[in-house]
Amino acid sequence: MGMGRAVVTGGAGFLGSHLCERLLDQGTEVVCLDNFLTGSPSNVEHLLGHERFRLVKADITDYIHVAGPVDTVLHFASPASPIDYLQLPIHTMKVGSIGTLHTLGLAKEKGARFLLASTSETYGDPLVHPQPETYWGNVNPVGPRGVYDEAKRFAEALTMAYRRTLGVNTAIVRIFNTFGPRMRPNDGRAIPTFVRQALHGETITVAGDGSQTRSICYVDDLIDGILALLRSDLAGPVNIGNPHEISVLELAKWIRDLSGSRSEISFVPRPQDDPEIRQPDITQAREFLGWSPQVPVEEALKRTIAWFREHPDITEIVDEPLAEELVNRP
Ligand code: NAD
Repeated sequence: MGMGRAVVTGGAGFLGSHLCERLLDQGTEVVCLDNFLTGSPSNVEHLLGHERFRLVKADITDYIHVAGPVDTVLHFASPASPIDYLQLPIHTMKVGSIGTLHTLGLAKEKGARFLLASTSETYGDPLVHPQPETYWGNVNPVGPRGVYDEAKRFAEALTMAYRRTLGVNTAIVRIFNTFGPRMRPNDGRAIPTFVRQALHGETITVAGDGSQTRSICYVDDLIDGILALLRSDLAGPVNIGNPHEISVLELAKWIRDLSGSRSEISFVPRPQDDPEIRQPDITQAREFLGWSPQVPVEEALKRTIAWFREHPDITEIVDEPLAEELVNRP
Protein backbone atom coordinates (compact mmCIF):
# COMPACT_ATOMS: atom_id res chain seq x y z
CA MET A 1 0.00 0.00 0.00
CA GLY A 2 3.04 2.31 -0.15
CA MET A 3 2.58 5.29 2.12
CA GLY A 4 -1.06 4.54 2.73
CA ARG A 5 -4.19 6.48 1.94
CA ALA A 6 -4.94 10.04 3.08
CA VAL A 7 -8.14 12.09 3.09
CA VAL A 8 -7.52 15.84 2.80
CA THR A 9 -10.49 18.14 3.49
CA GLY A 10 -10.10 21.57 1.87
CA GLY A 11 -7.60 19.93 -0.49
CA ALA A 12 -8.43 22.28 -3.36
CA GLY A 13 -7.43 25.33 -1.32
CA PHE A 14 -4.08 27.10 -1.08
CA LEU A 15 -2.43 24.93 1.58
CA GLY A 16 -4.49 21.81 0.84
CA SER A 17 -3.36 21.70 -2.79
CA HIS A 18 0.32 21.86 -1.79
CA LEU A 19 -0.33 19.16 0.79
CA CYS A 20 -2.02 16.85 -1.76
CA GLU A 21 0.89 17.37 -4.14
CA ARG A 22 3.51 16.47 -1.54
CA LEU A 23 1.58 13.44 -0.26
CA LEU A 24 1.37 12.12 -3.84
CA ASP A 25 5.11 12.73 -4.32
CA GLN A 26 5.76 10.59 -1.26
CA GLY A 27 3.73 7.68 -2.59
CA THR A 28 0.50 8.27 -0.69
CA GLU A 29 -2.93 7.77 -2.22
CA VAL A 30 -4.96 10.98 -1.77
CA VAL A 31 -8.70 11.59 -1.60
CA CYS A 32 -9.37 15.33 -1.73
CA LEU A 33 -12.72 16.59 -0.41
CA ASP A 34 -13.67 20.19 -1.19
CA ASN A 35 -16.81 22.21 -1.93
CA PHE A 36 -14.82 24.97 -3.73
CA LEU A 37 -16.18 27.67 -1.44
CA THR A 38 -12.86 29.52 -1.16
CA GLY A 39 -10.70 27.10 -3.13
CA SER A 40 -10.83 25.99 -6.74
CA PRO A 41 -10.44 22.77 -8.71
CA SER A 42 -7.88 24.64 -10.81
CA ASN A 43 -5.51 24.41 -7.81
CA VAL A 44 -5.38 20.63 -8.23
CA GLU A 45 -6.06 20.39 -11.96
CA HIS A 46 -2.44 19.30 -12.55
CA LEU A 47 -2.95 16.35 -10.18
CA LEU A 48 -6.10 14.98 -11.79
CA GLY A 49 -4.28 12.65 -14.16
CA HIS A 50 -2.42 11.07 -11.26
CA GLU A 51 -3.59 7.50 -10.64
CA ARG A 52 -3.37 7.89 -6.85
CA PHE A 53 -5.38 11.15 -6.73
CA ARG A 54 -9.13 11.56 -6.48
CA LEU A 55 -11.05 14.84 -6.22
CA VAL A 56 -14.55 14.70 -4.76
CA LYS A 57 -16.86 17.69 -4.51
CA ALA A 58 -18.34 17.52 -1.02
CA ASP A 59 -19.48 19.86 1.71
CA ILE A 60 -18.12 18.27 4.87
CA THR A 61 -20.69 20.02 7.04
CA ASP A 62 -23.34 17.79 5.42
CA TYR A 63 -21.70 14.41 5.93
CA ILE A 64 -18.51 12.59 5.01
CA HIS A 65 -18.35 9.19 3.44
CA VAL A 66 -15.18 7.62 2.11
CA ALA A 67 -15.18 3.97 1.07
CA GLY A 68 -12.20 1.73 1.81
CA PRO A 69 -9.25 2.03 4.18
CA VAL A 70 -7.93 5.43 5.33
CA ASP A 71 -4.65 5.85 7.23
CA THR A 72 -4.65 9.61 7.78
CA VAL A 73 -7.26 12.37 7.82
CA LEU A 74 -5.97 15.92 7.35
CA HIS A 75 -8.62 18.52 8.13
CA PHE A 76 -7.88 21.76 6.26
CA ALA A 77 -11.36 22.84 5.16
CA SER A 78 -12.22 26.34 6.42
CA PRO A 79 -12.34 29.83 5.06
CA ALA A 80 -8.99 31.24 6.20
CA SER A 81 -8.53 34.83 5.06
CA PRO A 82 -10.25 37.60 7.02
CA ILE A 83 -12.21 38.71 3.93
CA ASP A 84 -13.51 35.16 3.47
CA TYR A 85 -14.50 34.43 7.04
CA LEU A 86 -16.04 37.87 7.57
CA GLN A 87 -18.21 37.22 4.49
CA LEU A 88 -18.93 33.63 5.56
CA PRO A 89 -19.19 33.87 9.35
CA ILE A 90 -21.78 31.14 9.89
CA HIS A 91 -20.20 28.73 7.46
CA THR A 92 -16.84 29.30 9.12
CA MET A 93 -18.34 28.28 12.45
CA LYS A 94 -20.13 25.30 10.89
CA VAL A 95 -17.05 23.92 9.18
CA GLY A 96 -14.96 24.39 12.35
CA SER A 97 -17.55 22.64 14.51
CA ILE A 98 -19.76 20.25 12.50
CA GLY A 99 -17.09 19.77 9.82
CA THR A 100 -14.53 18.87 12.49
CA LEU A 101 -17.03 16.51 14.15
CA HIS A 102 -17.54 14.71 10.83
CA THR A 103 -13.81 14.46 10.03
CA LEU A 104 -13.04 13.16 13.52
CA GLY A 105 -15.85 10.63 13.03
CA LEU A 106 -14.19 9.46 9.82
CA ALA A 107 -10.81 9.07 11.58
CA LYS A 108 -12.47 7.11 14.37
CA GLU A 109 -14.34 4.83 11.96
CA LYS A 110 -11.17 4.09 9.96
CA GLY A 111 -8.69 3.97 12.84
CA ALA A 112 -6.77 6.76 11.09
CA ARG A 113 -4.38 9.39 12.45
CA PHE A 114 -6.16 12.76 12.43
CA LEU A 115 -4.44 16.11 11.91
CA LEU A 116 -6.27 19.39 12.55
CA ALA A 117 -5.12 22.56 10.77
CA SER A 118 -5.50 25.07 13.56
CA THR A 119 -4.14 28.58 13.57
CA SER A 120 -2.05 31.17 15.38
CA GLU A 121 -5.35 33.09 15.61
CA THR A 122 -6.17 30.89 18.60
CA TYR A 123 -3.71 33.21 20.40
CA GLY A 124 -5.83 36.23 19.42
CA ASP A 125 -4.14 39.56 20.10
CA PRO A 126 -1.37 38.00 22.20
CA LEU A 127 -0.12 39.31 25.52
CA VAL A 128 2.86 36.94 25.42
CA HIS A 129 5.57 37.26 22.78
CA PRO A 130 6.67 35.11 20.99
CA GLN A 131 3.76 32.72 21.45
CA PRO A 132 4.51 29.26 22.90
CA GLU A 133 1.92 26.47 22.67
CA THR A 134 1.32 26.80 26.41
CA TYR A 135 -0.12 30.31 25.99
CA TRP A 136 -3.94 30.25 26.13
CA GLY A 137 -4.52 33.34 24.06
CA ASN A 138 -6.39 36.62 24.14
CA VAL A 139 -9.42 36.24 21.89
CA ASN A 140 -12.49 38.46 21.69
CA PRO A 141 -15.31 35.94 21.20
CA VAL A 142 -17.93 38.54 20.25
CA GLY A 143 -15.84 40.63 17.84
CA PRO A 144 -16.17 40.03 14.08
CA ARG A 145 -13.06 37.81 13.96
CA GLY A 146 -14.39 35.66 16.80
CA VAL A 147 -16.12 33.41 14.25
CA TYR A 148 -12.78 32.13 12.98
CA ASP A 149 -10.78 32.17 16.20
CA GLU A 150 -13.46 30.49 18.28
CA ALA A 151 -14.31 27.92 15.58
CA LYS A 152 -10.67 26.84 15.64
CA ARG A 153 -10.53 26.84 19.44
CA PHE A 154 -13.68 24.69 19.49
CA ALA A 155 -12.10 22.39 16.87
CA GLU A 156 -9.01 21.98 19.07
CA ALA A 157 -11.14 21.16 22.12
CA LEU A 158 -13.21 18.64 20.15
CA THR A 159 -10.05 17.02 18.81
CA MET A 160 -8.71 16.58 22.35
CA ALA A 161 -12.07 15.18 23.49
CA TYR A 162 -11.96 12.53 20.74
CA ARG A 163 -8.40 11.71 21.74
CA ARG A 164 -9.09 11.45 25.48
CA THR A 165 -12.50 9.83 25.35
CA LEU A 166 -12.40 7.69 22.21
CA GLY A 167 -8.67 7.07 21.81
CA VAL A 168 -8.45 8.61 18.35
CA ASN A 169 -4.84 9.23 17.33
CA THR A 170 -4.85 13.01 16.87
CA ALA A 171 -2.51 15.90 16.15
CA ILE A 172 -3.06 19.65 16.17
CA VAL A 173 -0.89 22.07 14.21
CA ARG A 174 -1.11 25.81 14.88
CA ILE A 175 -0.22 27.37 11.55
CA PHE A 176 1.25 30.87 11.46
CA ASN A 177 0.92 33.17 8.42
CA THR A 178 1.98 31.21 5.38
CA PHE A 179 2.33 32.39 1.80
CA GLY A 180 3.28 31.17 -1.65
CA PRO A 181 1.93 30.25 -5.07
CA ARG A 182 -1.86 29.69 -5.43
CA MET A 183 -2.95 32.34 -2.96
CA ARG A 184 -5.80 34.33 -4.44
CA PRO A 185 -4.75 37.87 -5.40
CA ASN A 186 -7.90 39.35 -3.84
CA ASP A 187 -8.21 37.24 -0.71
CA GLY A 188 -7.33 40.26 1.40
CA ARG A 189 -4.25 38.80 3.07
CA ALA A 190 -1.29 41.18 3.16
CA ILE A 191 1.17 39.37 0.89
CA PRO A 192 -1.06 38.60 -2.12
CA THR A 193 -2.59 42.08 -1.82
CA PHE A 194 0.79 43.81 -1.83
CA VAL A 195 2.12 41.64 -4.66
CA ARG A 196 -0.96 42.28 -6.80
CA GLN A 197 -0.82 46.02 -6.16
CA ALA A 198 2.95 46.19 -6.80
CA LEU A 199 2.73 44.23 -10.06
CA HIS A 200 -0.13 46.40 -11.32
CA GLY A 201 1.64 49.62 -10.30
CA GLU A 202 -1.29 50.42 -8.00
CA THR A 203 -1.01 52.13 -4.63
CA ILE A 204 0.00 49.64 -1.93
CA THR A 205 -2.46 49.86 0.95
CA VAL A 206 -1.00 49.32 4.41
CA ALA A 207 -3.38 48.96 7.38
CA GLY A 208 -2.90 51.42 10.25
CA ASP A 209 0.60 52.87 10.45
CA GLY A 210 2.07 49.52 9.39
CA SER A 211 3.99 49.04 12.66
CA GLN A 212 2.04 45.86 13.52
CA THR A 213 4.15 42.78 12.88
CA ARG A 214 3.71 39.43 11.15
CA SER A 215 5.96 36.40 10.94
CA ILE A 216 5.74 34.83 7.52
CA CYS A 217 6.49 31.28 6.42
CA TYR A 218 6.95 29.89 2.92
CA VAL A 219 4.43 27.19 2.00
CA ASP A 220 7.08 24.51 1.24
CA ASP A 221 8.52 24.85 4.75
CA LEU A 222 5.06 24.71 6.30
CA ILE A 223 4.18 21.49 4.45
CA ASP A 224 7.49 19.93 5.63
CA GLY A 225 6.54 20.74 9.21
CA ILE A 226 3.02 19.39 8.86
CA LEU A 227 4.22 16.11 7.34
CA ALA A 228 6.82 15.76 10.12
CA LEU A 229 4.04 16.18 12.69
CA LEU A 230 1.78 13.75 10.82
CA ARG A 231 4.50 11.07 10.84
CA SER A 232 5.32 11.63 14.52
CA ASP A 233 3.15 10.48 17.39
CA LEU A 234 2.85 13.94 18.95
CA ALA A 235 -0.60 15.20 19.87
CA GLY A 236 0.36 18.85 19.91
CA PRO A 237 -0.65 21.54 19.55
CA VAL A 238 2.61 22.30 17.75
CA ASN A 239 3.36 25.72 16.28
CA ILE A 240 4.60 25.65 12.70
CA GLY A 241 5.71 28.96 11.25
CA ASN A 242 8.73 31.08 10.52
CA PRO A 243 9.89 33.26 13.44
CA HIS A 244 11.18 35.83 10.93
CA GLU A 245 9.10 38.81 12.12
CA ILE A 246 8.72 42.08 10.25
CA SER A 247 6.41 45.06 10.36
CA VAL A 248 3.66 45.24 7.76
CA LEU A 249 5.14 48.49 6.41
CA GLU A 250 8.58 46.87 5.95
CA LEU A 251 6.88 43.98 4.21
CA ALA A 252 5.09 46.33 1.79
CA LYS A 253 8.34 48.09 0.89
CA TRP A 254 10.21 44.81 0.51
CA ILE A 255 7.60 43.41 -1.88
CA ARG A 256 7.54 46.64 -3.85
CA ASP A 257 11.33 46.57 -4.27
CA LEU A 258 11.50 42.85 -5.16
CA SER A 259 8.75 43.41 -7.75
CA GLY A 260 10.70 46.24 -9.36
CA SER A 261 7.62 48.41 -8.83
CA ARG A 262 7.31 52.14 -8.22
CA SER A 263 3.95 51.87 -6.45
CA GLU A 264 3.23 54.42 -3.76
CA ILE A 265 2.29 53.33 -0.28
CA SER A 266 -0.84 54.66 1.44
CA PHE A 267 -2.36 53.96 4.83
CA VAL A 268 -5.90 52.64 5.34
CA PRO A 269 -7.85 51.93 8.56
CA ARG A 270 -6.89 48.91 10.63
CA PRO A 271 -9.50 46.11 10.81
CA GLN A 272 -11.09 45.55 14.23
CA ASP A 273 -9.14 43.21 16.57
CA ASP A 274 -6.23 43.01 14.10
CA PRO A 275 -3.37 41.46 16.11
CA GLU A 276 -0.55 43.83 17.05
CA ILE A 277 2.28 41.32 17.10
CA ARG A 278 2.74 37.74 15.98
CA GLN A 279 5.72 35.41 16.25
CA PRO A 280 5.79 31.64 16.73
CA ASP A 281 7.91 30.04 19.41
CA ILE A 282 9.02 26.94 17.46
CA THR A 283 11.07 25.26 20.20
CA GLN A 284 8.75 22.22 20.19
CA ALA A 285 8.92 21.74 16.41
CA ARG A 286 12.72 22.07 16.49
CA GLU A 287 13.21 19.68 19.40
CA PHE A 288 10.60 17.02 18.77
CA LEU A 289 10.27 17.13 14.97
CA GLY A 290 13.73 18.34 14.00
CA TRP A 291 11.93 20.94 11.90
CA SER A 292 12.80 24.55 11.22
CA PRO A 293 12.11 26.73 8.18
CA GLN A 294 14.74 26.47 5.44
CA VAL A 295 13.68 28.94 2.75
CA PRO A 296 14.89 32.50 3.42
CA VAL A 297 12.00 34.96 3.36
CA GLU A 298 13.52 37.00 0.53
CA GLU A 299 13.84 33.92 -1.68
CA ALA A 300 10.27 32.92 -0.77
CA LEU A 301 8.92 36.36 -1.66
CA LYS A 302 10.77 36.24 -4.99
CA ARG A 303 9.23 32.85 -5.86
CA THR A 304 5.78 34.09 -4.90
CA ILE A 305 6.10 37.29 -6.94
CA ALA A 306 7.33 35.24 -9.91
CA TRP A 307 4.28 32.97 -9.65
CA PHE A 308 1.87 35.92 -9.54
CA ARG A 309 3.64 37.43 -12.56
CA GLU A 310 3.16 34.18 -14.50
CA HIS A 311 -0.52 33.96 -13.54
CA PRO A 312 -1.90 37.44 -14.26
CA ASP A 313 -5.34 36.14 -15.12
CA ILE A 314 -6.20 33.96 -12.13
CA THR A 315 -9.82 34.61 -11.49
CA GLU A 316 -11.39 35.28 -8.14
CA ILE A 317 -14.59 33.41 -8.73
CA VAL A 318 -14.62 29.68 -8.81
CA ASP A 319 -14.91 28.53 -12.39
CA GLU A 320 -18.15 26.54 -12.25
CA PRO A 321 -18.00 24.79 -15.65
CA LEU A 322 -14.45 23.71 -14.89
CA ALA A 323 -15.56 22.53 -11.48
CA GLU A 324 -18.33 20.40 -12.98
CA GLU A 325 -16.02 18.97 -15.61
CA LEU A 326 -13.19 18.06 -13.28
CA VAL A 327 -14.81 16.63 -10.20
CA ASN A 328 -16.16 13.24 -9.37
CA ARG A 329 -14.28 11.53 -12.15
CA PRO A 330 -14.02 7.82 -11.47
P1 NAD B 1 -8.22 28.22 1.50
O1 NAD B 1 -9.45 29.04 1.60
O2 NAD B 1 -7.37 28.39 0.28
O3 NAD B 1 -8.56 26.67 1.65
C1 NAD B 1 -9.67 26.20 2.38
C2 NAD B 1 -10.37 25.16 1.53
O4 NAD B 1 -11.47 24.61 2.29
C3 NAD B 1 -10.97 25.73 0.26
O5 NAD B 1 -10.56 24.97 -0.85
C4 NAD B 1 -12.48 25.66 0.49
O6 NAD B 1 -13.21 25.52 -0.71
C5 NAD B 1 -12.57 24.46 1.41
N1 NAD B 1 -13.82 24.40 2.20
C6 NAD B 1 -14.38 25.38 2.94
N2 NAD B 1 -15.52 24.95 3.51
C7 NAD B 1 -15.67 23.65 3.13
C8 NAD B 1 -16.66 22.65 3.38
N3 NAD B 1 -17.73 22.89 4.15
N4 NAD B 1 -16.51 21.42 2.82
C9 NAD B 1 -15.44 21.16 2.02
N5 NAD B 1 -14.47 22.06 1.76
C10 NAD B 1 -14.60 23.29 2.30
O7 NAD B 1 -7.34 28.53 2.82
P2 NAD B 1 -5.87 28.06 3.21
O8 NAD B 1 -5.06 29.26 3.43
O9 NAD B 1 -5.39 27.01 2.30
O10 NAD B 1 -6.15 27.43 4.65
C11 NAD B 1 -6.32 26.02 4.82
C12 NAD B 1 -6.44 25.68 6.30
O11 NAD B 1 -5.28 26.11 7.01
C13 NAD B 1 -7.63 26.35 6.97
O12 NAD B 1 -8.21 25.45 7.89
C14 NAD B 1 -6.99 27.52 7.70
O13 NAD B 1 -7.74 27.88 8.83
C15 NAD B 1 -5.64 26.97 8.06
N6 NAD B 1 -4.64 28.04 8.24
C16 NAD B 1 -4.09 28.68 7.17
C17 NAD B 1 -3.15 29.69 7.37
C18 NAD B 1 -2.45 30.40 6.23
O14 NAD B 1 -1.58 31.24 6.48
N7 NAD B 1 -2.74 30.12 4.97
C19 NAD B 1 -2.81 30.08 8.67
C20 NAD B 1 -3.42 29.42 9.73
C21 NAD B 1 -4.33 28.39 9.51
